[in-house]
Amino acid sequence: MSSGLVQLRVRQDAGKPAAGGAPAPGDAVVSAPRAAAAPGQPAAYVETYGCQMNVADTEMVLGLLDGAGWARTDDPARADLILINTCAVREKAEERVFGRASELQRHKRPGVVLGITGCMAEHLESKVQERAPYVDVVVGPDGYRRLLDHVERARGGARVLDTELDRDETYEGLDPSRQMTGGVTGHVTIQRGCDKFCTFCVVPYTRGRERGTPPREILRQVRAMVAQGYREVVLLGQTVNSYRYEDVDFAALLRAVAEVEGLSRIRFTSPYPIDFTPAVIRAMAETPKICRHVHLPLQSGADSVLERMRRGYSYAEFVTLVQDLRAAMPDIALSTDLLIGFVGETEAEHQATLRAQEELRFDSAFTFAYSEREGTYAARKLPDDIPEDVKQRRLAEVIAVQQRITTEIMQTQLGRRERVLIEGPAKRGDQWMARTAGFKTVIIPRDGLNPGDFCEVDIERATSATLFGRVLPIRPDLSVA
Ligand code: SF4
Repeated sequence: MSSGLVQLRVRQDAGKPAAGGAPAPGDAVVSAPRAAAAPGQPAAYVETYGCQMNVADTEMVLGLLDGAGWARTDDPARADLILINTCAVREKAEERVFGRASELQRHKRPGVVLGITGCMAEHLESKVQERAPYVDVVVGPDGYRRLLDHVERARGGARVLDTELDRDETYEGLDPSRQMTGGVTGHVTIQRGCDKFCTFCVVPYTRGRERGTPPREILRQVRAMVAQGYREVVLLGQTVNSYRYEDVDFAALLRAVAEVEGLSRIRFTSPYPIDFTPAVIRAMAETPKICRHVHLPLQSGADSVLERMRRGYSYAEFVTLVQDLRAAMPDIALSTDLLIGFVGETEAEHQATLRAQEELRFDSAFTFAYSEREGTYAARKLPDDIPEDVKQRRLAEVIAVQQRITTEIMQTQLGRRERVLIEGPAKRGDQWMARTAGFKTVIIPRDGLNPGDFCEVDIERATSATLFGRVLPIRPDLSVA
């Protein structure tokens, strides 16, 4: 996940990436209040699970609430509306959401509305009704535009279910409230849904078919962010590089976004390997504002597993893509996702994944043990036949390899001079947390600098997850103050 989460409050940490510094899909994020509610002003408590797209959706919901005069609270006991924006991608997150809904229902007083939104609402609408009958509003990802109406009806005593997917909903015209991401890095969702139907994945069923946001809307949002002082935009999509709107493809969109004056950095996530065209690689290589970091989900190093997953590429094709990216941008950082213990995974197939890690040497990886998701092709046709202890043993092996590689790569950063963007406070009060273009976390002394400033640093120390730098004297061309 991205730097966009830096200043969000993470409630709990349910699963860390094997290496890298971002919250994982089981984390919950509470939207912090901007100001105390005025007397008589209704207040909303919003808790978010899952990926950056979910965080971006929450920002959109917060924008709707702001527009309708709602305040926010981080105390559910004081809320008039309690929303849990959910994730259905992993079972662990799903179970935690049911647990949280059950805990939060004790804050329901007369007139207080409890709602579940997002992927899980879409995926498990009947289970939500069955297991959490006290939930008043259940709204899928394409129903946010109607959310406030639903809340009003629920305040009047109705129970509302809106999980219809809408092929045409791109949320054009809805302005997210980006204050929850700290004012330096902001998300813009450029694409919704997914047409790939990987056999293990529930997303095409929960978020519907792929559709691109019109470029005019994307550019409007990016310009608005820059006007608010943001330095960096993260373009989001389930398969972000498959983006198309009429005759504008992802490469053209990247170049258009880079033209926005005042914007300093562009990131995007997550691209789909086979849709990574030479035009996108050229756009990245030729456009300094586009950060040299790509999160490229491999999932498995074995062709037979990739076929069962219906990923649409072979390992050799993936290797060629990595070689093309590194040839065009030798300093590019690559991270990945690895899904361990998928249906039928043999020891030889597992070894192929370990070999792939050694060969490709990703900077970091999110690693997960496979668990069946209701409604997917795999759940219907491919029985989950790998014993849990085998999955966990293989996962531990994959994590150990990745941790070693990540540590080695981090050590190579020692002595390097990097240009970093300060994103916000580090854990220690006298330090800032900054990022390199390659998405590595660098801790630096405050030295009179502020979030949103760029500075040059010499890397003096490295752990497996974090770099520590010494700030060099500010050069006017680097300080975009
Ligand atoms: S590309 Fe595959 S894994 Fe990614 S969201 Fe689409 S179906 Fe899921």
